[in-house]
Amino acid sequence: MRLILLGLPGAGKGTQAKEISTKFNIPHISTGDILRNELKKNTELGKKANEYMSQGKLVPDELMVEIIKKEIEGKKRDNFLLDGFPRTLQQAIKLDEMLSSIGQKIDKVLNIKVDKESIIKRLSNRRICHSCANICSIDDKEVLKNNKCPICGGKLYKRKDDEVDVIRKRLDVYEEQTKPLEDYYRKNNLLIDIDGLGSVDEVTERILALL
Ligand code: AMP
Repeated sequence: MRLILLGLPGAGKGTQAKEISTKFNIPHISTGDILRNELKKNTELGKKANEYMSQGKLVPDELMVEIIKKEIEGKKRDNFLLDGFPRTLQQAIKLDEMLSSIGQKIDKVLNIKVDKESIIKRLSNRRICHSCANICSIDDKEVLKNNKCPICGGKLYKRKDDEVDVIRKRLDVYEEQTKPLEDYYRKNNLLIDIDGLGSVDEVTERILALL
């Protein structure tokens, strides 16, 4: 299965991607995670990407397409779940070209829909575990009280781009550069809209019912 998860930052793509990739045993490719990992390792790519990420802007298409080529073509994957890629029309076109050159195509694009007010609240409250990368929220009283990962007890941090001014910028960028992808995939009969409000389990069930 070759899937793309589309949706505003904070719509729950990362969380749902983990659920789906575990359930179907398909690799979860998150371009945001790849870039943050490069930054952690202090590579040239990581430092370059961070200039854009810290401002809520998109990293240039050429860099992103190279990363995805390495992940799919380079690792000879024929199943994958893309989370955070493509984010521009150009990326989507390049992805289609690359897949067609290796005899593959996208099966479905899941578009997780959540309103902007809920997104701002979710992202401001989002915390990530340093040790296991679990995504959680200080909406959860236990997380708020203990300030520790509910899964492994690891230290939690707030992503720099989850500050309100950067969140607003990311939402604008989505509207301008990523939203046109909905039409692109709708025209190709690949887009499936999913209501992203509710608990993680509720949204997962909605997705599983469609796969
Ligand atoms: P994410 O974790 O998906 O929210 O991505 C965090 C940040 O990484 C984004 O705000 C962008 O700066 C950058 N990024 C991730 N994926 C892409 C992509 N496909 N194209 C451009 N920039 C990206």
